[in-house]
Amino acid sequence: MLRPAKPDLYLLIILLTLVCLCVCDISDWQSTSTVHKEAFTDEDLDFLVFGDWGMNGQDPATHKFLQKAVADAMEICADEHDSKFVVNVGDNFYKGGKYDYQGVQTVDDEKWNTIWLDVYNGAKLSSINWYTVAGNHDWYNNVSAQIDYSLNKNNRFYLPALFYVRRTSFGPKNSTVAWIHIDTNIFFYDEATQKAKGMFGNFEIMGWDRDGAVEEKLKWIEDRLVENQDAKWIFVIGHHPLIGDCAQRYRMKELIPILDRHRVTAYFAGHNHVLEFLAPTRWSRFAQFISGAGSRTSKACEGDDWVSAKGTVGFLHVRISDKSGKMVYEFVDATDPSIEGGTQVFNGSLTNRPYWYPK
Ligand SMILES: [Zn+2]
Repeated sequence: MLRPAKPDLYLLIILLTLVCLCVCDISDWQSTSTVHKEAFTDEDLDFLVFGDWGMNGQDPATHKFLQKAVADAMEICADEHDSKFVVNVGDNFYKGGKYDYQGVQTVDDEKWNTIWLDVYNGAKLSSINWYTVAGNHDWYNNVSAQIDYSLNKNNRFYLPALFYVRRTSFGPKNSTVAWIHIDTNIFFYDEATQKAKGMFGNFEIMGWDRDGAVEEKLKWIEDRLVENQDAKWIFVIGHHPLIGDCAQRYRMKELIPILDRHRVTAYFAGHNHVLEFLAPTRWSRFAQFISGAGSRTSKACEGDDWVSAKGTVGFLHVRISDKSGKMVYEFVDATDPSIEGGTQVFNGSLTNRPYWYPK
């Protein structure tokens, strides 16, 4: 007897629906059109910027990586200045210590506790949002688990998509800040030279064919910058730096004219395990900060105006003023845990949006 065709048809419809749902989810993970908005009444807006912190948690045997020293100094700073959030520039979870894998494996991975919640467990850092981008070490494993964790487990670790926008208002004049959070991995890694090929398999799962996806993402960034030109401040946040020629790998440098054209105030990055600053110039008018020394140290890429001493770990502390339209910043060296709150090693100020110069 012939089997009826109907069940097969139903099966096909179910399969097609599942495929469609997967594709839809993946495209939402890439970028979201939802803008996260928040308002503060304070006259100043205070926040911390750092990255590259996920090294070994609290394992006493691995304290040499100093993640906890930076966490403790950040807690003191955030508490003293009433910081409103952390801008997290990525490389959230490394391989190391007792863990023999990069990133996280699932939303229930033990690393969420041992490397994040149990380390940044002071009253302030454990109550404010961490606005996050993904670094290369997050991509080497299951980057979508980090998005899933943000969406479904704990949105204080805020990563609703790989590319997203926030708008913050603060102060009596209601100053507005636009934050464009981007994933720079696609701009930084060239398949021919990148050693960790697993990343490209994950790009494929995300549907990122190389050149087409790069063009699409560059356009996404430019479109968001155009939309947010009314903001008094514009910050762009990515994992990979743009300071120095050695940092501008593959298609990274194409970001510079885009950020410049739309009068971005500053670009925040990590990846290089240093504290580093490049002032705006007439040719590249946005300021650049690297704060990638959240748990470990490495060499800087030359081309900066200032860089931390070899072996320094620490973070960047920023305060912007509604009244004066100025931004003040300081890099804090937290290498020596016996110095409570760390030591200011470099500081300065900037105006809110760079002026336009004819070229
Ligand atoms: Zn990195």
